[in-house]
Amino acid sequence: MTTPFHLPPALRTLRNYVDGEFVSTDRRFDNISPLHGEVLAQVHEADALLVDRAVRAARQALEGPWGRMGVDERSALLNRVADVIERRFDEFVAAEVADTGRPVAQARGLDVHRGVVNLRTFADIGRLAHGDCFETRLADGKCLLNYTVRKPVGVVASICPWNLPLLSMTWKAAPALICGNTMVVKPSEETPSSATLLAEAFHEAGVPPGVFNLVHGFGANSAGEALSRHPDVDAVTFTGESRTGSTIMKAVADGVKEISFELGGKNAAVVFADADFDAAVDGVVRSSFSNSGQVCLCSERVYVERPIFERFVAAMKLRTEALKVGWPDEQGVFMGSLISRGHRDKVLSYFDLAVREGASVVTGGGVPKFGDQRDNGAFVQPTIWTGLADDARCMQEEVFGPVCHIAPFDSEEEVIDRVNGTPYGLAGCIWTSNLSRAHRVSPRFQVGIVWINTWFSRDLRTPFGGSGLSGIGREGGRHSLDFYSETTNVCIAV
Ligand code: NAD
Repeated sequence: MTTPFHLPPALRTLRNYVDGEFVSTDRRFDNISPLHGEVLAQVHEADALLVDRAVRAARQALEGPWGRMGVDERSALLNRVADVIERRFDEFVAAEVADTGRPVAQARGLDVHRGVVNLRTFADIGRLAHGDCFETRLADGKCLLNYTVRKPVGVVASICPWNLPLLSMTWKAAPALICGNTMVVKPSEETPSSATLLAEAFHEAGVPPGVFNLVHGFGANSAGEALSRHPDVDAVTFTGESRTGSTIMKAVADGVKEISFELGGKNAAVVFADADFDAAVDGVVRSSFSNSGQVCLCSERVYVERPIFERFVAAMKLRTEALKVGWPDEQGVFMGSLISRGHRDKVLSYFDLAVREGASVVTGGGVPKFGDQRDNGAFVQPTIWTGLADDARCMQEEVFGPVCHIAPFDSEEEVIDRVNGTPYGLAGCIWTSNLSRAHRVSPRFQVGIVWINTWFSRDLRTPFGGSGLSGIGREGGRHSLDFYSETTNVCIAV
């Protein structure tokens, strides 16, 4: 596919999707390309009244044909939504790339592909799920039979981030819907395009009105706040910054609502001297700079065992300087832009802070110059630091850009302490050829997921989530079913 990302875009209009209809509003905001700064689309912002209409439609849909459907029918419908995405695959790719500035190959191979896989996988997981059943012998010889019944929680609000837009939305929508819930989804204001296409896919697939609703807008004083504060929402699933999670937690506290939070990270990769050196360099380059470092699972802290430290830093510098940063459809491009100029300001402020905190800049640390429209975009150089103390702000706070700090370590105990030395607890990586060590060390990382000799590999049946500032709860496989359903235990004296 060739998409002329460098040409001025034809201005599009993106609307909300409520109760089976695409709805316009008076308030609009611009969706701006992070590649060249031009306006891509006018987005119709939902106000509190429209959010209320969406929640009421979702409530009503629970009483309609959707509420009476069996899991097989819901599974077939989710598969039909996946069919539509596959049929319109290139449109989804173009939307995702235009909003985020990421490479086309990544949007094809990761984002849109995973959108389809999320829907199909949870369509199967929900269909094949079973409850618990226990036979209980009592002291007097009588017997109890216990079994569980899963029911939908009700109306689920899903508030999504911009970093992997379609992937995040479908990761929440597929399990919520297979469990029989209805939804109101609020995509990030930065990435309204694939969300609108997803609403079209639900419409085309014949999902009943009110089951999947989409409201566009911002967080505070906009659709996000109205949705998280709405009294008739039963559960909130949120992915985004830890600070926003805290605000949403306060908003839902009075209603004692179910929450699932996937928040920020300050993840560490640990490279032992016995690791396959080239595989580790390759892995850490990917885990630090994929999606311009805008993946919650990226490694911003890298600890390397002292005997190979100098060699590792030199190899990382060489590999990083060879990464191609450019247009999404350029041959061999690895990194596109950041999400926005606003986010670039934040990342650049950390580049400045790191130097003030005493970092040595091994490579990068600035903005690439292209001499064309991309200079109006939101690009930064992939950056490596050394020399920071573990308690420096740049070692404690999530930057969410293409940057990592590399530090030497001397012992297993020392590195475990340092890995655990932030308030976050999302993910970690270990690179070693000593599997005993890998098994010994990995459970001691205070995180939700540890990768050994790999990064970002996912089986959607496994639990996913974080501890500390990185989140509350686990989603994935039956863990998602547990969150998106209310379970009743039935106990019979037999
Ligand atoms: P963000 O918190 O700024 O925004 C996320 C969503 O929340 C957006 O839709 C936004 O409009 C909405 N929002 C903002 N303020 C709100 C409020 N007061 N009330 C209700 N909604 C509000 O996050 P972001 O910048 O879009 O995403 C990047 C962050 O997401 C990073 O911290 C990253 O680590 C995290 N993330 C975590 C995971 C995970 O699985 N743990 C996955 C992806 C991203």
